[in-house]
Amino acid sequence: MNATRPACPPETQNTTTASIPQNPAETQYSQALDALYEQLDAVVTPADKLQLPRPVTGRLGGPMSIWTNFPHLCELIDREPAQVAEYIAQELCTTVSLTEKLELKIRYRLGSEKACQILAKYLNVWVRCHVCRSLHTSLQRATTGRYHVIHCHSCLADHTPSVERQV
Ligand SMILES: [Zn+2]
Repeated sequence: MNATRPACPPETQNTTTASIPQNPAETQYSQALDALYEQLDAVVTPADKLQLPRPVTGRLGGPMSIWTNFPHLCELIDREPAQVAEYIAQELCTTVSLTEKLELKIRYRLGSEKACQILAKYLNVWVRCHVCRSLHTSLQRATTGRYHVIHCHSCLADHTPSVERQV
């Protein structure tokens, strides 16, 4: 993976796209995101499909980034922002913090594409039902021990996340 893709790709020809002028870099990111979301769509049945907006990220200067629609995404997937934030910190091996508005500040140059990849991984581990593939689930603490249980609202199955990284 090339995490430090330059802001302006070398191509200058833009003859195949529609008449609306677009920044080639934006187009490239947009296509990459489309591909990622198609992968997500492929494993989600239409009835259980969640309409998730794409991650919106920005630079804060230096190595810091901010994920501004983070609280909205957490709300849509019914997960605690702090728990999702901890997963992201572990995946990126960095430190994160939540603002007063629960936006995610990350010590990492995080673009939308990378944020989308991490979100897809999070959904697979911590949200998706392993029986019916639904994303309409809730995360609960098991009554004994410190394990989490994912409870599916579609088929009512319970399962423990396959990768138990406790927060
Ligand atoms: Zn299910």
